Amino acid sequence: MCNGISELVERELSKLILKAQITSSGAVKLGKYVVCDGHADSVVRVVTHAHSDHIIDLDKSIRSIPLIAMTPPTHDILRELGYIIPQEKCIKLDYNVPFEIVDEVLELYESKHIYGSAQVLVEDYEGYRLVYTGDFKLPGTPIIECDVLVIEATYGSPKHIRPFKGEIEVILGDFIRNILSKGPIYIYGYHGKLQEVMEILRREGIVAPFIATDKVYRITKALVKYGLNVGEIYHIESIEAKEIMKTNWYIVFDHVGSKSTIHNARHSSVYKIFLSGWEFNKPIRRLSERSYVIALSDHADFEQLIEYVRNAKPKLVITDAYRESSAIELANEIRKKLGIYAIPLPQS
Ligand SMILES: [Zn+2]
Repeated sequence: MCNGISELVERELSKLILKAQITSSGAVKLGKYVVCDGHADSVVRVVTHAHSDHIIDLDKSIRSIPLIAMTPPTHDILRELGYIIPQEKCIKLDYNVPFEIVDEVLELYESKHIYGSAQVLVEDYEGYRLVYTGDFKLPGTPIIECDVLVIEATYGSPKHIRPFKGEIEVILGDFIRNILSKGPIYIYGYHGKLQEVMEILRREGIVAPFIATDKVYRITKALVKYGLNVGEIYHIESIEAKEIMKTNWYIVFDHVGSKSTIHNARHSSVYKIFLSGWEFNKPIRRLSERSYVIALSDHADFEQLIEYVRNAKPKLVITDAYRESSAIELANEIRKKLGIYAIPLPQS
């Protein structure tokens, strides 16, 4: 414990510190019954969203934890990724609907990150509010007041500040429109971010046909029924897509880790665009004659992480050091800037 804090505060902190933790295998435990985004003995496993670092050991949890909870869109993305959750274990939980577990209450809140992603609030048997943000960005994510806050730390270093936060959508729309006049485009990103980009481009008036590789197509279609608005989109193996690809005016969306880049080998005039949050100096960076990185992030930057903590008014903050090495820096900055006790977990 820090020197200089009163005995009373110290006593409360030592109580709070037992109410939430991050295990060495990446499970975020809240209260007595809930574990999020990793595996540990519990009554409910919550999946905040379907990115790989948040579905750690999910098969193990499906086998051995009584209940698996997530939002309906996250459930459908998991299904497309091949996870089958038995009906009797599956809790599809909408945002802001309390779910009682013995003497504690679980509630999911929206988080702006990927479609269907959630923050987790557990109100424990003593009335303490324990929150795990999962991944999020601001604005658009409700800030939940709480006693203990477990916060992501992807951009947890003061170096991670994006000066062009608000303008990126218009910049992206203009850039894509310009490139489309020269040739077809392949856009590479993670599941969720690709669908976000599709929506942004339609909103910015891009009407060129959208084509997607298999898994991207299936996830996009699964999300359309929840309101994702991307207009017409074609499976890359469909007859329509093959006809469209004889022209030079279309956009293909592919997962960044996919091997299907073979598709674009047929086209010498293809432009490649990679979506990345790890760009802080300028919104667009040229990699080569026909490839670019665009700074599109689904995570709060450093200033926004601090903003979340300030407004959530927790007594204790745990920064997620399992998923991000900036967690140590973030905890230091929270202590320094806000005077709130903060620790990175798990400790190495
Ligand atoms: Zn994520």
